[in-house]
Amino acid sequence: MSHRIAVIPGDGIGTEVMLEGLRVLEAAARRFDLDLTLEHFDFACCDYYLEHGRMLPDDWFDRLKDFDAILYGAVGWPEKVPDHISLWGSLLQFRRQFDQYINLRPCKLLPGIKSPLADRRPGDIDFYVVRENTEGEYSSVGGRMFEGTEREVVIQETVMTRVGVDRVLKYAFDLAATRPRKKLTSATKSNGIAITMPWWDERVKAMSTNYPDVSVDAFHIDILTANFVMHPDWFDVVVASNLFGDILSDLGPACTGTIGVAPSANINPEGKFPSLFEPVHGSAPDIAGKGIANPIGQIWSAAMMLEHLGHKEAGKAIVDAFEAVLAEADPAVLTADAGGHGTTETLGRAIAERLAAG
Ligand code: ATP
Ligand code: MG
Repeated sequence: MSHRIAVIPGDGIGTEVMLEGLRVLEAAARRFDLDLTLEHFDFACCDYYLEHGRMLPDDWFDRLKDFDAILYGAVGWPEKVPDHISLWGSLLQFRRQFDQYINLRPCKLLPGIKSPLADRRPGDIDFYVVRENTEGEYSSVGGRMFEGTEREVVIQETVMTRVGVDRVLKYAFDLAATRPRKKLTSATKSNGIAITMPWWDERVKAMSTNYPDVSVDAFHIDILTANFVMHPDWFDVVVASNLFGDILSDLGPACTGTIGVAPSANINPEGKFPSLFEPVHGSAPDIAGKGIANPIGQIWSAAMMLEHLGHKEAGKAIVDAFEAVLAEADPAVLTADAGGHGTTETLGRAIAERLAAG
């Protein structure tokens, strides 16, 4: 089956790591005989904004909607364009308009990458955070009263819908069912948030009846964050509302070492719209232009994209390839954040070659 992929490098190191993401993707396509058509777009980056006064052209939706996936680099250049403009004008538009209601982040400790948690080795940390990406605590429902006076009142509502919550729970249970441990952890706070969270717990329980093979537990968000640090080996698939998931999906990858290796996916599971795959890191202006950014976050995002498109074997082969290169620990190949003195290109090439060698 052929796939059309929209490639948007974005800003800063996004453009550098994308070159290596594509190098590895092409190596995967050759080895697994994949029919991928890549089309490059120069919008959704700050240079486009500086030239056109907006992040996206008027017809962006129609131009992107029929792609099977979007591979994004990184967006943002705070010195030239404020983050609320660059982010809101690009990524957040894609998430909303393409109904990418799942945010998925693997949290996996890789060989040779030092975890900030003491004595943790590869295999100890290997789980996913599934975040609800469209509703919940991040509603714009609410307002201010008596502004600027002593009587000032500020209200912001949490909006959860049965459709919105059930579809993210279903995705998380489906994912857990495919994993060897088949374990799902729910992030809750039903001891303090007395209306929405007990209902969230009820929806988890109701969904679990469809998955007798998946074991389920739940933690309040406060102790859950502590357990990410104390006992990361407890977790397999963790599902959370928008706010809790936002926190956990930064904490989880942080427990696995350098931000340069973490990937993420914004998914529309039904495939009605394209899903978007991007590294967790931003454009990193401090190291942009130096050729020293770690490309693994981008390469892993490309692997997640192939898996999403149904090419599980190819996605796994990419992960195996960068794990093997990291395990070899050749300082001439690895980037500085991974303990070497190589470049974005030496690391990208080594992974592509390893993948091609099979
Ligand atoms: P954002 O505004 O999205 O947070 P940012 O441009 O501030 O993005 P971050 O992704 O938050 O950058 O990264 C913080 C720091 O981590 C960077 O300034 C950089 O030094 C380092 N870093 C980020 N990505 C990489 C990478 N791929 N390889 C090596 N170091 C990285
Ligand atoms: Mg930052």
